[in-house]
Amino acid sequence: AMITEKSAALYARAVEVMPGGNSRTAVYSSPYPVYVRSGSGARVTDVDGVERIDFLNNSTTLIHGHAHPEMVEAIAAAVGHGTSFGMPTPVEVEYAEALSARNETFEHVRFTSSGTEAVMMAVQAARAYTERPKIAKIAGAYHGAYDAVAVNNDGSGNLISHAVTGNPEGVVANTVVIPFNDPEGSLEVLRRHADDLACVLIDPVPWRIGLLPASKEWLDALREFCDASGAVLISDEVGSYRVGYHGAMQLLGAEADITVMGKVIAAGMPIGAVAGRRRFMSVFDPSKGKPALPHSGSYNANPVSMSSGIASLRLLTPQAHERIGQLGEQARGSMRTALGEAGLDWEVNGLGSLFRVVANSAPAGYDSAAAAMKALYWKLLENGIHIGDSGLGCISTPMGEEEIAEYAVAFAKSLGQVLAEGRA
Ligand SMILES: *Cc1c(COP(=O)(O)O)cnc(C)c1O
Repeated sequence: AMITEKSAALYARAVEVMPGGNSRTAVYSSPYPVYVRSGSGARVTDVDGVERIDFLNNSTTLIHGHAHPEMVEAIAAAVGHGTSFGMPTPVEVEYAEALSARNETFEHVRFTSSGTEAVMMAVQAARAYTERPKIAKIAGAYHGAYDAVAVNNDGSGNLISHAVTGNPEGVVANTVVIPFNDPEGSLEVLRRHADDLACVLIDPVPWRIGLLPASKEWLDALREFCDASGAVLISDEVGSYRVGYHGAMQLLGAEADITVMGKVIAAGMPIGAVAGRRRFMSVFDPSKGKPALPHSGSYNANPVSMSSGIASLRLLTPQAHERIGQLGEQARGSMRTALGEAGLDWEVNGLGSLFRVVANSAPAGYDSAAAAMKALYWKLLENGIHIGDSGLGCISTPMGEEEIAEYAVAFAKSLGQVLAEGRA
């Protein structure tokens, strides 16, 4: 059995001072989470001294793995010069230039300290630009904690604007939901609200509803609707930017008005970015009098995050994207083979360096597909691999063939153990 004594002891202390011992829902696992001591490259070591290959990389954020020497150097150098100021710094200009150069639609860029905030600012920018109240989002998709987008975000995908508990009725009424990859179904909803819609907010590779890429047909339908109605097309690529050098939309043959990024664009320091066509981004411009949308934040464009971002983008060459994309394809292939040989109808989805095992059915001995997925998560941990307990994983640039081969062996072994224990 797995040794997790020190994690259990830490969790016992944590429950005394934090609700459920937790400060981030996504990292909780029952009966308690495994606490990490350190990470290096593709690997993490937990507090009991057990080393594993990390395929979760902080919810896909750490595209260069842990403590990458060039990242550490850039961040440490920035910290040594002061961590934040009530003045702009040269690195924010350099970083904005680097990000803007990646996609022709990233004409103007604005920084926040998290993806949640960046989504919030993009939605508010669309409202300020259009002077309309409503937003449309994909049923089931996750866009962070902002209340306007924390509607129907549980992955279920049913077409009702249901709230997280406590979300006011007015907020819920102003968020309408559209079915992913269904052009007719989406247009039917959008047309009904066309005069009131500030934006259509999508994630082109939405992980919570299965990590399938958006179809060209659906993206074209949304683009056409937005052009005709004046709604702003916002692409939340906080998670999915990593699928290609130019981001997810360009890879899928589409164009957003505003793109929201985060996670890998700084790969370890707090970050969010709103990037888009000048006409939309002009709502933030304070140089011509009070802007339509004033936007401040004590840590916006702080030099530590900016320096981390510059280092991350420097390492994220087109070749790096290509290489981790190929490793992602290999990883997906090995999982599909193992599932096929086990006679299980689960899917493995994803694009580029992102993957997700989608548990469709409960094997013998399990109450639900999710319970079997959780069992697989714990078996993988026992066998030296860390992925998300929802089946989410990704490739980082320090990984190579060796890590993918180890992963394939551990996945097949863990799956076999899960099924055998269910039958026993
Ligand atoms: C992670 C994520 C967010 C939230 O970003 P944070 O930096 O965690 O606040 C928003 N949207 C998507 C698609 C994400 O994957």
